[in-house]
Amino acid sequence: MGACKYFISLAFLFIAFSCVLSRTIFLELNNPTSEELSFLKKYGYLPEPQGEFDFAYTPHSVSEAVRKMQAFAGLPQTGVLDSSTRKLFKKRRCGVKDIENKPTRNRRYILQEGWDKKYITYRVLNGSSTLPKHRVESLMAEALAIWAPHGGLHFTRLDDGNADIQVSFAREDHGDGFPFDGPGHVVAHAFQPPHGAMHFDDDELWGENLDDDEEDVTDFFAVAVHEIGHALGLSHSDVKASVMYPYYQVPVEKLHLDDILGMQELYQKDEVSQEEAASTESPARSSLVPRFTKADSYEDENEIPDLCYTNYDTIQAIQGKIFVFEEEWMWVIRDKQIEEGFPRRFHEVFIGLPKHVNVIKAIYERNNGNIVVFSGRKYWEFNRAFRLVKVGQLNDYSIPRYVPELTTVFLSNYNNKTYLIEYERFWRFDKATGKMDRGYPKEMSAWRKVPYPVDAALIWQGDTFFFRGPRFWRFDNALVEAHRYYPLPTAPLWLPCDPAPGMEPYFANDEP
Ligand SMILES: [Zn+2]
Ligand SMILES: [Zn+2]
Repeated sequence: MGACKYFISLAFLFIAFSCVLSRTIFLELNNPTSEELSFLKKYGYLPEPQGEFDFAYTPHSVSEAVRKMQAFAGLPQTGVLDSSTRKLFKKRRCGVKDIENKPTRNRRYILQEGWDKKYITYRVLNGSSTLPKHRVESLMAEALAIWAPHGGLHFTRLDDGNADIQVSFAREDHGDGFPFDGPGHVVAHAFQPPHGAMHFDDDELWGENLDDDEEDVTDFFAVAVHEIGHALGLSHSDVKASVMYPYYQVPVEKLHLDDILGMQELYQKDEVSQEEAASTESPARSSLVPRFTKADSYEDENEIPDLCYTNYDTIQAIQGKIFVFEEEWMWVIRDKQIEEGFPRRFHEVFIGLPKHVNVIKAIYERNNGNIVVFSGRKYWEFNRAFRLVKVGQLNDYSIPRYVPELTTVFLSNYNNKTYLIEYERFWRFDKATGKMDRGYPKEMSAWRKVPYPVDAALIWQGDTFFFRGPRFWRFDNALVEAHRYYPLPTAPLWLPCDPAPGMEPYFANDEP
């Protein structure tokens, strides 16, 4: 009897002690910093302070807010600010609230109102320091096309005047009461109809075609698809695979059923049933299709693209100089200076190149100094003075008949072989023997840590460089992967371009 009593009191003591202990741990873990508190308020997890005095946030209310935030992000709902939860505070995301502090319907996606019309106009007011306006326009058109079928909507671009959806880049305080926060965290926000504006933080380094979550660069297309959702009336979704999930995710290729259902609720309530929604395919972006398609929006054919905006069709080292091609224009750069007389139309330089060749994507200099331009399954070979000396077929390089065109060609100084690249695979040709090397084609993934498709590849001062979008990589032949300090921005390091403001940290490494 006495032993039992002793045991019970011991057990009680133990429980009491554990309570104290766990409470201490709990309080320690849940001691949010002021930034974390403002995050919880900003995204609607904690009520905003009422009136003059700040809310007395209790451990309980903070824990509840953390639980909600974890639920929305798809993390275990512990209510404790553990390390994976704390990471969310730093993650790149949309600046729009996750939870509106007003009654919502019992759905995963919170509906606001849509546009009360099917014909919607948009206008791009400016580009970013790393993404030119015409690229933004072209990517916007692609992103809108993903949404359009699900609301029966038609989007028209305006070049001036007030459009329904106004797209712009801005930094810090930009006059709407929702200032941006410098590089990282909030990357964009958008307003519901009938406001419809979309703002992108110009302190981010915007890029395109990013398939990986890279720390430095934010994919414009992925964020644009998300922000368009807001501009059409959708709120954030807690479905991680959906486009309306608030945290930055790449790549975005199509809408999730959750996004589609939200659109139908807004725009097609009576027209389409939810069963049909499940079978509705959203147009996907094929990874085989080059995403650097021409902006078909040029009104002025004589407009010369800005060299410092990184939208090159290709770049190549020829005669010890850097040749840059964009649309029908070319620049020749020596010691970071544009050679006199450039930019010029490449047809004025490559005399004899047929007029139907309106873009140069693959070009290289042979060992004998001849320059070869590829288009479709044909190539044109010019001598050092740019006089046409030969017209040939890809068969001459043993490229199989099913390959419609090459995207990049370069001659390696390493083994003196010609590398012929088609988006995601490449061949290695030995000009000396006139034969394709065995074991080809190979996947582009063989060039480890170099993203593909690449826009250009060249040899410069003994090193191999790959270019894609606004950035470039130096390939380390010994490690057989891209050098760890790369990518770096192309324009300020290869071309006579000033670094864009805020980009200094991105080229503090090796010079090319
Ligand atoms: Zn958002
Ligand atoms: Zn704004």
